[in-house]
Amino acid sequence: MNPTAINADLHCHSTVSDGQLSPADVAARAHAGGVTVWSLTDHDQLGGQREARAAAEALGMRYLAGVEISVTWAGRTVHIVGMNVDPENEELRNGLASTRNGRAARGVAIGEALAAVGIPNAYEGALRYTDDPDMISRTHFARFLVDAGYAQSTSDVFARYLGDGKPGFVGHRWAKLADAMRWIRNAGGEPIIAHPGRYDYTPVEFAALFDEFIQLGGKAIEVVTGSHTPDQYREYADVARKYGFEASRGSDFHAPGEGRIDLGQLPPLPPDLKPVWQRWL
Ligand code: AMP
Ligand code: MN
Ligand code: MN
Ligand code: MN
Repeated sequence: MNPTAINADLHCHSTVSDGQLSPADVAARAHAGGVTVWSLTDHDQLGGQREARAAAEALGMRYLAGVEISVTWAGRTVHIVGMNVDPENEELRNGLASTRNGRAARGVAIGEALAAVGIPNAYEGALRYTDDPDMISRTHFARFLVDAGYAQSTSDVFARYLGDGKPGFVGHRWAKLADAMRWIRNAGGEPIIAHPGRYDYTPVEFAALFDEFIQLGGKAIEVVTGSHTPDQYREYADVARKYGFEASRGSDFHAPGEGRIDLGQLPPLPPDLKPVWQRWL
């Protein structure tokens, strides 16, 4: 079997970050969706890894420990997935803790920014959607705004309130690219540029990002992801060919009915690409 045909889903979220299902419930949903190689990649947090691995292995899936790190590069946010990391690694754990530090204060600032455009008490509202105030994310704000009737859907919230440059957007300094990549590699993992099609960079900036990623030892990008359109699958397959990147695939599932695609339901990678998971099978 061509390894691109394996139903690998190496990007999704649980209640440990901004998903709505527990790690074990995400595992069950991945398995029900036909996934055989799976990774839970919560934002800046490894707290779900033990439960995810136990549930995955009980269901007969191959489990790869994962995390999605928030990075600031050239003034904008880039997400770097760390795949097959050691979740107990001290340097990685400390790096993620420092990256999470500041989410709470930023949440308060988002609440103030939304109050200024006529949406009061959004921070308190968003807090009701997470058990861990230090993990407060724009996704929790988005769910609150939808449920409170300010918007039709979470993507509508990002388009109108929380996306870059919108009234509720609050800039934030996340980890440095070089640091995030060092934490991942020193924890035995492989850094992967998540959903490159989501970043609002110029072609020159994209080329600089890919060059710097390669210089820092980066070898893989996501190509087929729930955060890309089908046109972007083709675009980033070509980027993988041009730069010689290995390719990854993942739904970026957060919650039932939210987002474009469910666990295990994406099309396979183009068969000529080298899947990043091949090195661990
Ligand atoms: P934060 O880390 O708090 O900045 O939140 C980022 C999260 O917001 C991402 O991980 C996604 O889950 C979600 N997100 C970002 N952009 C969008 C969008 N356009 N539509 C829906 N969700 C989005
Ligand atoms: Mn998210
Ligand atoms: Mn992401
Ligand atoms: Mn994600």
